[in-house]
Amino acid sequence: AKDSGRGRICTFTADMNLKVVERMRLLSRARLAFDRQAFTVHYQPQVATRDGRVRGFEALVRWTDQELGPVSPDRFIPVCEDSGLIVPLGLWVLETACIEAAGLACRGAGDVTMSVNMSAVQLAQHDFVPRVLEILARTGLPANRLELEITESQMIGSLDAAIGKLNALRKAGIHIALDDFGTGYSSLTYLRTLPINTLKLDKAFIDDVHRRPDARSMVSSISRIAHDLRHSVVAEGVEEAAQWEVLSLMGCDLIQGYFVSRPLPADRIDAFLAAWEDRRAG
Ligand code: C2E
Ligand code: CA
Ligand code: CA
Ligand code: CA
Repeated sequence: AKDSGRGRICTFTADMNLKVVERMRLLSRARLAFDRQAFTVHYQPQVATRDGRVRGFEALVRWTDQELGPVSPDRFIPVCEDSGLIVPLGLWVLETACIEAAGLACRGAGDVTMSVNMSAVQLAQHDFVPRVLEILARTGLPANRLELEITESQMIGSLDAAIGKLNALRKAGIHIALDDFGTGYSSLTYLRTLPINTLKLDKAFIDDVHRRPDARSMVSSISRIAHDLRHSVVAEGVEEAAQWEVLSLMGCDLIQGYFVSRPLPADRIDAFLAAWEDRRAG
C-alpha cells in the first residue's frame, strides 16, 4: 500500500511537470503565432427567433499552429490570460471584428451587431475603456453596433471597478452581454447589478430544452426575469429545429448555434447571408 502511494505521488508530480511543459510550449507557439499574424477570426451568426433574420455575429478567435495543428481557444485562451498575451491578442480580435462589421455595413448588412469576447484580464487593464473607444473611432464602426461579451466569473474580486468601466462603455453606446449564464457561480444578483443589455444562456441550458420540462421552465423563468430587467436573451448552442421552436415559445430573442451555422471565416459571410435569406424565404 505504501509503495502504491509513493507511485501515485510520483505520477502526480510527473503529470504536473508535463502540464507545465505543455503550457510553456503552447505559450511560446502562441507568442510566435501572434508575431507572425497567424491568428484568424471566425464569425457565428445570431438570428431572431421571431422572424429568422440575422441580427449579428459573434467573433471567435482561431489558431492552427504549424507544429501543434488546430488549437482550441478553450486551451490557448487560459494560457494567454496567465501570460498577459490576451491583452494585445484581444485588442487585435476586437479591431479585426470591428473592421469586418464596418465592411458588412458597406455591403448592405448595416444593421447587424458584432459581439466580441472580452477576458477579465483585458477588463482589468487601466486603459481598457479608452483602448476600446479608440478602436471604434479608428474603424468607423458605430458604437451601437458593437457588443462586448463578459462572464460573471470574471467579476469576482473587482466588481466595482468592472461596473465602472462597463458603465463608461455603455455611456458611449456599446452594448454589454453577460456570457455563459447558468454556468459557474451564476447568481441572479449579477443580473441586477451588472449594467448589461443582453443575457446569453449557456448551451448547458439549451441541450435538453426540447426534451425536458425542467430545462424548459428554467429557460422561461430566466427569460422572464431578464425581460423584466429589459435585457434581451440569446440562446447558445442551438443544434436542432425543435430547440428553436421551444426557445421561441420560452421567450428567447435570439439563437446562435450549429443549427443556423458554425462559425465562418470572413470570406464566407456574404454567401451565408444570401443562402440564409433563401432558406428563410423558402
Ligand atoms: P463562448 O464565448 O461561450 O463561445 C461559444 C462556443 O461554442 C464557441 O466555441 C462556438 O464555436 C461553440 N458553439 C457555437 N454553437 C455551437 C453548437 O451549436 N454546438 C456546439 N457544440 N458548440 C457550439 P469556440 O470558438 O471553441 O470558443 C470557446 C471559448 O473560447 C469561447 O466560448 C470563449 O470563452 C473563448 N473565446 C473564443 N474566442 C475568444 C476571443 O476572441 N477572446 C476571448 N477572451 N475568449 C475567446
Ligand atoms: Ca461568447
Ligand atoms: Ca458562451
Ligand atoms: Ca463558453
